[in-house]
Amino acid sequence: MSTAHAYAAASAKSPLGPLAIQRRELGPRDVLIEIKFCGICHSDIHTVRDEWGAATYPLVPGHEIAGIVASVGAEVKKHAVGDRVGVGCMVDSCGDCSSCRKGEEQHCLKGMVGTYGATGRDGQLTQGGYSTHIVVTEDFVLKIPEGIPLDAAAPLLCAGITTYSPLRRWGAGPGKKVAIVGLGGLGHMGVKLARAMGAEVTVLSQSLSKKEDGLRLGAHHYYATKDPETFQKLAGTFDLIVNTVSAKIDVDAYLSLLALDGALVSVGAPPEPLSLNAFSLFMPRRVFTGSLIGGIPQTQEMLDFCAQHHIGADIEVIPASKINDAYERVLASDVRYRFVIDTSTLK
Ligand code: NAP
Ligand code: ZN
Repeated sequence: MSTAHAYAAASAKSPLGPLAIQRRELGPRDVLIEIKFCGICHSDIHTVRDEWGAATYPLVPGHEIAGIVASVGAEVKKHAVGDRVGVGCMVDSCGDCSSCRKGEEQHCLKGMVGTYGATGRDGQLTQGGYSTHIVVTEDFVLKIPEGIPLDAAAPLLCAGITTYSPLRRWGAGPGKKVAIVGLGGLGHMGVKLARAMGAEVTVLSQSLSKKEDGLRLGAHHYYATKDPETFQKLAGTFDLIVNTVSAKIDVDAYLSLLALDGALVSVGAPPEPLSLNAFSLFMPRRVFTGSLIGGIPQTQEMLDFCAQHHIGADIEVIPASKINDAYERVLASDVRYRFVIDTSTLK
C-alpha cells in the first residue's frame, strides 16, 4: 500500500477537503501513475452531491487524469516509467464479455469499474484523480501523445471522448450540420472536435454571452436558446445534435431542429427524467438516443486525433484550495471551459 494525498467529500452536503488515502500494492499488470493534473467534470459534482444516488463517502472524485508513469508491475508491456499517460472514467472491466471484446468496455455486461465510487475487482472502493497517485491495470491506461500539454490533455479523458464518440457514431463530417447544445466542458470539446471532423458547427447556448468564444473554438454559427425565434429559424436544420446540458431540456423543442433521419444524442445526465411527445419522433422521422463516454480503443483514437489536429481543452488551472469555488462556478455556467486541478498543490 502507498499513501496518496487527495481531496475528498465527506458527505453530500460538506465541502471537499484534504484526505490521505491508500493505493493498492502494484500487481503484476498494474501501473503506478504520478498524477499531474485532473479535470473537474460536472459528473463529479452530480456524484459528490449524491444527485444520482448510491454515492459512497469519503469520496475522492476525478476521472480526467493526466500524469507520468512512476512504476510498473513485472508483467506490464504497454507502458514504461516516464510515459505520459491518462486515465478516464473507468479503471477495469471483465475483459471477456461481448462488449469488452468489441472494445466497448463502458458497456461491460458485468459492469465496468468506475474510477471513483465503485467497487474494484479487489473488493476495494475506488477513489479518483483529485489525488497525487493512482494504481490502474495497464489496459485502462491511455497514452497521451507528445503534442498535447498534460494540463490541456486531462479533460480529453472524459469531456473529449464523451463528445468524440457520438460525433463519430452519427457521422459528423463534411456536408453534415452539427449542433452542440451547452458550451461548457463537454460542449467546448464537441465544438472543436466536430469542426476538426469537417462538419458545419452551430452552438446552441442559453445566451449570446459566449458567442465570441464559440466562434473562436470553431463554430460557424451561434444562437441563444432563450430566444424563441432560434427554434423557428432553425427548425428542420440539423443532421446531428449533441446535447451536453447538465439540466433537464425541452426534448421536443430540440427534436424539432432535426432534419429527416437526424439524431439528437443526449450525453448530459440530469438527475430528473426527460420526457418527449411521440409525434416529435416521426413527424418527420428522427432519432433520440444517448451515449456513454467511449471504449478504450476509441479513447486512444480520440487522443491521437487531438494530437494530429492540435486540439486540447481550454482550461483554467487551479490549486486544490479552489476546488469548492470551482464547483460553484461550474454550477453557475461560469466555466471557461474546464477547471483543471494542479495536483502538486495537494501535498
Ligand atoms: P458543464 O461544464 O457544467 O456544462 C454544461 C453546460 O450546459 C453549461 O455550461 C451551460 O451551457 C449548459 N447549462 C447548464 N445548466 C443549464 C440549464 N439549466 N439550462 C440550459 N442549459 C444549461 O458540464 P459538463 O462537465 O460539460 O457536463 C455536462 C453534462 O454531461 C453533465 O450532466 C455530466 O454529468 C454529463 N456527462 C455525461 C457523460 C456521458 O458519458 N454521457 C460524460 C461526462 C459528463 P451554456 O451556458 O452554453 O448554455
Ligand atoms: Zn466526466
